[in-house]
Amino acid sequence: MTHPMHINTDVLIVGGGPSGTSAAISLLLYSDLSVTIVEKSNLSTTKVGEHVSASVLDLTDYLKLDRKEVIDQCTVPSYSSTSYWGSDLPSRNDSIFTTENESYQLDRQEFDFMLLKKVVDLGGKVVPRMSCKNYEQTDDNHWSIKATHTEHGEININCKYLIDATGRKSNVCRQVGIPTTTIDKLIGVGTFLQANTNQKIPHRQIIETIEYGWWYTSQLPNNTIAVTLFTDADIISEHKLSETANWNTALAETKHLKHIVSGMISKSPKLYVRDAGSKITNTSQKANFIAIGDAAVSFDPISSMGIGFAMTSGCHAANLVSTQLKVNSNLTSVQYQKDLQNHFMQYLQTKKNYYQQEKRWSSSTFWSRRN
Ligand SMILES: Cc1cc2nc3c(=O)[nH]c(=O)nc-3n(C[C@H](O)[C@H](O)[C@H](O)COP(=O)(O)OP(=O)(O)OC[C@H]3O[C@@H](n4cnc5c(N)ncnc54)[C@H](O)[C@@H]3O)c2cc1C
Repeated sequence: MTHPMHINTDVLIVGGGPSGTSAAISLLLYSDLSVTIVEKSNLSTTKVGEHVSASVLDLTDYLKLDRKEVIDQCTVPSYSSTSYWGSDLPSRNDSIFTTENESYQLDRQEFDFMLLKKVVDLGGKVVPRMSCKNYEQTDDNHWSIKATHTEHGEININCKYLIDATGRKSNVCRQVGIPTTTIDKLIGVGTFLQANTNQKIPHRQIIETIEYGWWYTSQLPNNTIAVTLFTDADIISEHKLSETANWNTALAETKHLKHIVSGMISKSPKLYVRDAGSKITNTSQKANFIAIGDAAVSFDPISSMGIGFAMTSGCHAANLVSTQLKVNSNLTSVQYQKDLQNHFMQYLQTKKNYYQQEKRWSSSTFWSRRN
């Protein structure tokens, strides 16, 4: 009989996206704690979400990544955004929620991979293709976790501190009984389109509202664009918008976007469907546990706040974890939660103001919910 493998680590981070890797790098750079990241994917799944304000570079500086390498290897040329929001006349701005002029379009695969590589370079462990399934807290508030690896089978993990960095589904929070407050059920349904070699694709994001939501397109490397329709879950079900034929019809009915994507070819027959709603979790009452990134607070993608917040919250959490393990008090968790709550309330107000600028369909289900 073979015995399950064991991992002992000070901090276990579940999820290897920008929040998890930022927390890991901060811990490895600025504390003596050992860190393991468990990631359920094989690291090659397609990531969406790519528009960031230039302040993301201050975060990569803090994480001691080479700024030039980040720009050269992980971004496509600098951007602006054109939106048909509230009017058929285009308006231009770089980032809707911030006053910063400069923004970047990330190559998410490259960017997330660069962060993971930094974790490994600093001596952290990254275990892909592994899912945690059972979390038990011991009397001293440490954690005993059962995980399954696609090749190595059952693995037991012991850690002092557990971090949920699993993204919007807040998988760990749900399993350890942490409540979530959900504001809306926005969903993004989209695909990647390939332009042919002599087709010029615009170096900007394009946003166009319609009666039941809004469309968004952004340029990615290799002459590809991501095109996503954002609307509510019930509207998607009602109009069967996750079916390619219906989604294509809706795209063909846009006024502006249809001209941009004309002649481009879909890279996959299947559409991606992603949660994109706003929500917040509250982890302050659970000892030796914290949620970061989308697992803690999820923002509407119109804000372009997700990646920046994921990284910032990861860095803050790292600081909090090393303090808590030294002084054995959860006061810093209470403050962290208050900060998240304040940030979220400000965001909700800004989002409301932004959605209110679209008055053309104010009585439709989608827009009346947001006004
Ligand atoms: C359609 C769309 C467009 C977006 N556009 C933008 C944008 O333009 N700009 C922006 O800033 N943000 C955008 N976002 C948001 C942005 O993608 C997220 O905020 C960001 O990825 C959050 O990072 P994270 O590390 O918290 O989570 P994620 O990036 O979701 O990473 C979570 C990781 O955890 C892993 N995982 C999940 N469950 C488990 C488990 N049980 N065990 C192990 N691993 C697990 C997942 O495989 C994943 O790798 C967009 C989101 C959507 C849906």
